[in-house]
Amino acid sequence: MKCRICREKAIIGLPQHNLALCADHFDNWMLKRAAKAIDEFKMFTKDSKILVAVSGGKDSLALWDILTRLGYNAHGLYINLGIKENDYSDESEELSRTFANRIGKKLQVVNVKELHGMSIPDKAYSKKRKTCSVCGVTKRYYMNKTAREGNFDVIATGHNLDDQAAALLGNFLYWKFDYLAKGAPYSPPLRKGEFAKAKPLILCTEKENTVYCLLQRIDYIQKECPYSKGATFLRWKHILNEIEENSPGAKQAFYLGYVKHIDIFKVQNEDMPDSRCKICDTPSWNEVCSFCALWDLNKK
Ligand code: SF4
Ligand code: ZN
Ligand code: ZN
Repeated sequence: MKCRICREKAIIGLPQHNLALCADHFDNWMLKRAAKAIDEFKMFTKDSKILVAVSGGKDSLALWDILTRLGYNAHGLYINLGIKENDYSDESEELSRTFANRIGKKLQVVNVKELHGMSIPDKAYSKKRKTCSVCGVTKRYYMNKTAREGNFDVIATGHNLDDQAAALLGNFLYWKFDYLAKGAPYSPPLRKGEFAKAKPLILCTEKENTVYCLLQRIDYIQKECPYSKGATFLRWKHILNEIEENSPGAKQAFYLGYVKHIDIFKVQNEDMPDSRCKICDTPSWNEVCSFCALWDLNKK
């Protein structure tokens, strides 16, 4: 297999693009893929202040690296969830800090246990709720808070094409309209106090992000979060991989086709009230937002 550009030995085949590339040209191609998504979906500009949600995993570290190399003003936020199993949180925080030092960028760290006296899994247990749901509410709150306090313009996350397409398949199968309205590569803020969310690596696959990290010698956490994606999500991924194997490009066509028609689903979410949480003043459907209710801030 030879690189289509320079005819040197290729290190990766990209059948969905009818392409094989050597290390140098693949590196260049990744930067172009991210730049294409940023431009095509009008995510942000070189003047924007970008907050990258960093988990220590390959996707978010590849994203931060690529944005920095493209010349964007991107800072990192790491949220330590207090997950003790496999040393998951501490190890991923360490890798995120090491990477931030390497690229000379600022990493803000929020430690949930230090702030609230309880880790995410312990909180979930005490409230009899799913860990990922407690995690989602908490991460969303701190991302918005950090963005607000630091005058950021947009929050960027490392979502890749495989995860997004698998989530989409699951949401379509069960017609989850709320989620179907939220899968865009770029979502502008709907109300004051909210932030735009961008997924600049949405055109890149998990494999591409992994190879990018290997080539750039980015040390990322290889373990999965112990609470990560159940068997069902992995099944959707597996099914899509099988389809992709026989029809290269199907995954991207599936996702981009959905993006083209996403407005169909947005109608369901239009009539949002302009109410705010009486405790933290962030936009909320209820008097007390889900974060303040979860962490019992209304009782203090
Ligand atoms: Fe949080 Fe669940 Fe993701 Fe782990 S898998 S980081 S608990 S949302
Ligand atoms: Zn080449
Ligand atoms: Zn609140």
